[in-house]
Amino acid sequence: MKAIFLDRDGTIIEDTGYAHKIEDLILFPEAVEGFKLLKDEYKFFIITNQSGIERGLFTVEDFIKFNNYLIEKLANYDIIIERTYFCPHEGGCDCRKPSTKFVNEIVSEYSIDLARSWVIGDHPSDVAMGTKAGCKTVYVLTGHGKKHLHELESKGIEPTLIASDFLYAAIGVKEHENKDSQNQP
Ligand SMILES: [Mg+2]
Ligand SMILES: [Zn+2]
Repeated sequence: MKAIFLDRDGTIIEDTGYAHKIEDLILFPEAVEGFKLLKDEYKFFIITNQSGIERGLFTVEDFIKFNNYLIEKLANYDIIIERTYFCPHEGGCDCRKPSTKFVNEIVSEYSIDLARSWVIGDHPSDVAMGTKAGCKTVYVLTGHGKKHLHELESKGIEPTLIASDFLYAAIGVKEHENKDSQNQP
């Protein structure tokens, strides 16, 4: 089975800065279109850094309520998020991206073909996690994507693709996969 490990804030929803109130949730409309292109072939997992919890800006309960609301919103479009994994820490833990801890956990529970799976995110740490895990990666320019673009080069982080938003990420993933399958003998 193939998976897409999704960053959440800045990738599928607007990054309004430690978003945790339902009224602040803005799902990118193009993300819905992107999901529709991918949903028959991939299982979706959210992996998100939520240091606002350890910083005391919101609670785990706030996070879960907000995230469940997003998941229900996506379910209305028949888009199923298998599970959400979050790091509540500011650092000094073993789960904050670019740690691959959650990817490893997912792989131990689901039979995922990592080499044919992707990470999509708006932060260099998303790409770094994906590369370390042996996935392909898309760096999107929504959220913090533009601001941190220069870090890719300075930190030697190379995404498989760079896309303007989640829809173009999905189109890129599909094109890449089609090319790959044509190249197979
Ligand atoms: Mg993000
Ligand atoms: Zn953590």
